[in-house]
Amino acid sequence: MDLDHEKLERVTQEAFNATDNLRWQMAITKAKLELESNPYMHFDGHALLVLSPSGEIYTANGTCQCKAYRHGQQPCWHRAAARLVERYLEAQQSGDAIPLRDALESVRCAARIMHGIEDANELSLGDISRVCRLLFDAEQQLVEATAEEVAAQ
Ligand SMILES: [Zn+2]
Repeated sequence: MDLDHEKLERVTQEAFNATDNLRWQMAITKAKLELESNPYMHFDGHALLVLSPSGEIYTANGTCQCKAYRHGQQPCWHRAAARLVERYLEAQQSGDAIPLRDALESVRCAARIMHGIEDANELSLGDISRVCRLLFDAEQQLVEATAEEVAAQ
């Protein structure tokens, strides 16, 4: 795929930092390498199509058809790659990275809702990173729940 190296690097770093799950971090690292070197990948606007060495085609977004995913829905690099491409395109659409001011505003808003913290100045760096993690987990759950729903239909 024709991706800008620097942008992909930034998106990968963000995704990597957003999880402390070692398996996901490994999947993300592998996904970036594949995105940069594997010619048998195509994003159709919804899912990432990956031709595997065994000749199967995987359609990855929230779910996948590979062995790793079938065995207990383990993080596989196909799903990680699909997510990276999504984030890459999002970043591209919004011009570039979300301005820090907007990102902080989202965190403050979430902190108000989840922790009842009214004054943003009361937020410590620890609070902010906790809220970010919660938001990320919630997003992941939403993505997975949606994928399961689609799969069940
Ligand atoms: Zn997979």
